[in-house]
This record gives sequence, structure tokens and C-alpha cells, in this order.
Amino acid sequence: MPIYKAPVNDTLFILNDVLALERYNNLPGFADATGDMVEAIAGEAAKVAEEVLFPVNLSGDQEGCTRNDDATVKTPKGFKQAYDLYRQGGWIGLAVPEEFGGQGLPYLLHTAVGEYMSSANMALTMYPGLTQGAIAAILVHGSDEQKAAYLPKMVEGTWTGTMNLTEPHCGTDLGLLRAKAVPQSDGSYRISGQKIFISAGDHDMSENIVHLVLARIEGAPEGTKGISLFIVPKFILKDDGTPGTKNGVSCGAIEHKMGIHGNATCVMNYDEATGWLIGAENKGLNAMFVMMNEARLGVGLQGLSIAEIAYQNAANYARERLQGRSLSGVKNPNGKADPLIVHPDIRRTLMTIKAWTEGGRAFTLWTALKSDIAHRSADEKERQAADDILGLMTPILKGVLTDKGFDHAVMAQQVFGGHGYIEEHGMSQYVRDARIAMIYEGANGIQALDLVGRKLGMNGGRAVIALFKEIGDFCEENRHDEKLAFFTKHLKKGLNDLQAGTMWFMQNAMAKPDNAGAGSTDYMHLFGLVTVGYMWAKIAKAAEDGLAAGAGEREDFLKNKLITAKFFMERLMPETALRKTRIEAGADTTMELAAEAF
Ligand SMILES: Cc1cc2nc3c(=O)[nH]c(=O)nc-3n(C[C@H](O)[C@H](O)[C@H](O)COP(=O)(O)OP(=O)(O)OC[C@H]3O[C@@H](n4cnc5c(N)ncnc54)[C@H](O)[C@@H]3O)c2cc1C
Repeated sequence: MPIYKAPVNDTLFILNDVLALERYNNLPGFADATGDMVEAIAGEAAKVAEEVLFPVNLSGDQEGCTRNDDATVKTPKGFKQAYDLYRQGGWIGLAVPEEFGGQGLPYLLHTAVGEYMSSANMALTMYPGLTQGAIAAILVHGSDEQKAAYLPKMVEGTWTGTMNLTEPHCGTDLGLLRAKAVPQSDGSYRISGQKIFISAGDHDMSENIVHLVLARIEGAPEGTKGISLFIVPKFILKDDGTPGTKNGVSCGAIEHKMGIHGNATCVMNYDEATGWLIGAENKGLNAMFVMMNEARLGVGLQGLSIAEIAYQNAANYARERLQGRSLSGVKNPNGKADPLIVHPDIRRTLMTIKAWTEGGRAFTLWTALKSDIAHRSADEKERQAADDILGLMTPILKGVLTDKGFDHAVMAQQVFGGHGYIEEHGMSQYVRDARIAMIYEGANGIQALDLVGRKLGMNGGRAVIALFKEIGDFCEENRHDEKLAFFTKHLKKGLNDLQAGTMWFMQNAMAKPDNAGAGSTDYMHLFGLVTVGYMWAKIAKAAEDGLAAGAGEREDFLKNKLITAKFFMERLMPETALRKTRIEAGADTTMELAAEAF
């Protein structure tokens, strides 16, 4: 049976030693997040993940969701009970402002504990995850009445949320969207059309479901300029605010799919359903983007979380499974074979996942901190600088951590040999679950295009220039420190490749956009390598500082960090040169074959 233990110590090390959380206690909500409080919250979240969500993960995958004849959806056995405990614990509103029933704590903390929940049960965690995205959109774009009517119940989790963008003929290209909205004399709209692939579209875990739906108001312009966002509750609210009449929206079918079986992916039919506009007419994509940006960080976190649980199981298996003898002499003389963990190739696999996952955790938390600064700082310059980095990092975090999440789930499965391929050990589920994160919330190819086509040049390249300077300064400041010189040397090399790749785009992609398109995925990964490398250099510095200050019982932990940091620099960082070379190859050969030749 699979195992899972939330990596609380690692989270606390990143928050306290690497990011120095206490330095930010001037930000709203951060003063309450004292060291003790953070430790208590992380510990409590670990318990919920390990003892409430994890036990129904494998069974949820095996049973899946079912659509009843009356178009309602049943979630797997135990999901509702687990969800109730989760929502009663206040986890949905951890970072939501207190006036709407939340706790107003840092988004950083929400992200830290979100990893545990998603590792333990990604499919289940998606129900509150989509609710959180919908809460964010209503908070920013909803009217005061809408906020008062919907947010407290959603924060409490007695109502959940969804996002409805995709239609059968349009996923990436939302300009093709056809769902229509007809204005009514009372200010509401009648929404009609079909949405597909809607996560958590219907289920039996909440009293009401608040659908956020993109549709085109009659007569609106074609393309993305004519799209508006609507709130369409499953049950229309009565005057007293409680759910009343069933609205004209129902689940037409649930998709049979590769993974996340415990999450209902629904075809949603809107048949003159009553909806209310959120934000301005024809500005629906702006409103939806609030939700999508938040969701993209959440999906990046899913990639990380699945890699983590897959890694834990693979490491555990490698310590127990006896197979073959060590190349350097027998390590288990009392047994007929040595454990897998003695084999260098197994260790290469485990070290690769470990280095990416721990570095990825720091990357995720660092980005979440930027989000807090961008939204909560009183200093406008500081807010803008953080928002620049957040915008730049969003496609990288989503694209790289989910590509890696899948790769690493497969690598962890490989450690099990044939036993990873059968369902019993849970490894197959991790591979299947991890796959979707590369596709939804903007497929990863689209993340790469967003990075290269939009984020790089934004505000004259302000974000990228600032980040290159920050990393360059870090290398410069620490290169004479003999304990850190190894790390800064490798990081600087990676940064040089990234700067060269960026320069190549500037010189070659304006006149020929295919050059940007052909190199975009390599560029996204090049950027991810350097950013995670930067995280590892910061981790190494924190570990050295900790050891110098007298680490006590953390000594092994800190020394292991240095070994893993070294592995990242030595074995993973050199990939920047390969990525740069591919970028510089340009688009000519890629674009040469005629379509029929494929
Ligand atoms: C399990 C599951 C859950 C989902 N949940 C939701 C949900 O809750 N709400 C919702 O609205 N949607 C949801 N989706 C839909 C998902 O977001 C879309 O599938 C995704 O956006 C891609 O759209 P598509 O499937 O139509 O692919 P397409 O848009 O047809 O794209 C196909 C491929 O072509 C690439 N591509 C497309 N355009 C370009 C371009 N211009 N340049 C380069 N490459 C391009 C894409 O990257 C992709 O790899 C879900 C999907 C699944 C499978």
C-alpha cells in the first residue's frame, strides 16, 4: 500500500531559513503567522492530509465518480466525509480576508499546506481548489452584493465553485466561444450552451455549486473582445440567501478519463440558465484571468505534489526491495541480495526527483511570497516589483513543475519495475493523475508561448531584467565565499545561458515569430532550471549559515541539503546549455516539412 508523510520540516526550513518569513511581518496577515503558529498550522495540515485525505485516495481512483439518472453526480465512497472534515478545518479560507469568513493569513501558508493536501489526494483537493479560484475572481470583480451573497458560503465550503471556459470546439482559443447570454429586464441573463471538461461540475459534497461561466452577450463583438463572465448557481438563491429553485444547468455526462478519477469532469449543459454578470460586459477574460492565474500556480503545485508522493513511495521501496548486488561490494551480507538503494542508477533517479522536488518547493513558496507582497505591501514600488516577478514566474512554475511532475512520477514508477505498472502500489495512479496538470489551465505549450510572447517583453522587459540582476548580484556577492563558490559558479553559467537565449530571441524572433514558437518550450525549461538553481543556491547558503551557527539536531538535515544542492548543480543545471543550443537552432528545420509529410 502507498505511504505519505507531509514534508513539514522541509517546508519550515524554506519558510524560516531560506525565505526569512519573519522579515515580512509588516505585511497584513503576516504578523499573525508567527513561527509557532506556522509550525502548528503545517502540523495540523499534515494530519488532515495524511489521516483524512490520503486514506481515500487509492479507493477514490478505483471507484471514480458516477452520474445518476437524475443528472446528479456521486463522488467515491468516503469523499464527502473527508471533504467535510477538510472544510470544517477552515482550510479553504486560510488566506481569504476575514470580512468574508476567511483567516486572512498569507497566501504563502495556503500554498505550503496546499501541497500536502494535493499530494494526499489530488482529485479530492480539486473541489475546494476550484472554489478558491472562483472566490478569487468574485473578490476582485464581483459587486458588493455578489460578494456578500456567495463568498461566506464558499469560504465555509458549504458551496463550491467551478470555472466554465472550455467548449467542444474551443479550449485554447477562447475567441471561438459560442455560449450565449441574453439580457433580461430584471438585470439577469439567460445563459445557453454547452461546456465540456468542467472539473467538479457536479457532485454530492456541497449544498450549492457556483459556476463561473464565460459566455457571449447577444450582439457582442466576435473573438475574445466579446466575452463576459457570469455567476450561474446550481440552485438560484432565495430572498433569504439560501439555495432555492434548481437553475437550468445540469451535468450531461461525466468524462471517462486517464486519471483524477475521484474528480467529476463534467459536460455541463446550460439551458436558459439564470446568470448574473461579474465585472464589466465583454471583459470576461480579464475577470477569468484572476482565477486562471491563481489556478495556474495551484496546478504547478499539483505537479510538485504528485512528484513528492511518488518519490516518497519510490524511496521507501528502494530501501526495502532486495535485488542484485552493489557494484562496490556486498552491502547486505545477511541477505541474498542488496536493497535497490545501493545501485547508482536507482540513486540517480531518486536524487533527480528529490533535487527537483525540494528545489521546486522553494520555487513555489518564493513565488507565493511574491504574490503576498504584490497584493499586500503598502509600498507601491515593492508591490510592482513583486507583481512583475509573479507574472513572469506564473507560466514557468505551471509549465515546468507539471512537466517535471509527470516525468518524475514516471521515474518513481520505474523504481518499482513491473510492480509500478500494476495498480496495487499506487504508482500508476500518480502517473495518471500527474498527466492532466500538463494539459489544463493552459496546456504547457501555451504557458511557454505566454512566457516568450507576452511576459518577456512586458513593460520593456522590466521583470526579466530585475530577475537577472537579482540572480547575478547573488552570484557576485557570494562567489568569494569558498563554501558557496561551487554553487554560484554553476548558477552563473546557467544564468549566462539564459541571458544568451533571451538575447537570441530579441535578435531573431521579432522578424520571424516562428523562432520564438519553436524555442519557447526549451526557453521555459531553461528559465525553470535557472530559477530552481537560484533556489538551490539560496538553500545552500541557508544550510551553510545554519551549520555555522551550530545546527544541533538539524545537522544531518542541513548537510543533506548541501549534498542535494550539489547534485542539482552538477547533474541537472548543465541542461541549460542543451536548451540554449536548441533555442539557437531556430525554427527553419522544424517548419520545413509539408503538413502531409507528418
Ligand atoms: C480532466 C480535465 C479537466 C478540465 N477542467 C476544466 C475546467 O474545470 N474548466 C474548463 O473550462 N476547462 C477544463 N478543462 C479543459 C482544458 O483546460 C483544455 O483541455 C485545455 O485548455 C486545452 O484545450 P483543448 O483540449 O481544446 O486543446 P486545443 O486547444 O485544441 O489544443 C491542442 C494542443 O495544441 C496546442 N495549441 C493550441 N493552440 C496553439 C497555438 N496557438 N500555438 C501552439 N500550440 C497550440 C495546445 O498547447 C495543445 O497541446 C479540463 C480538461 C480536462 C481533460
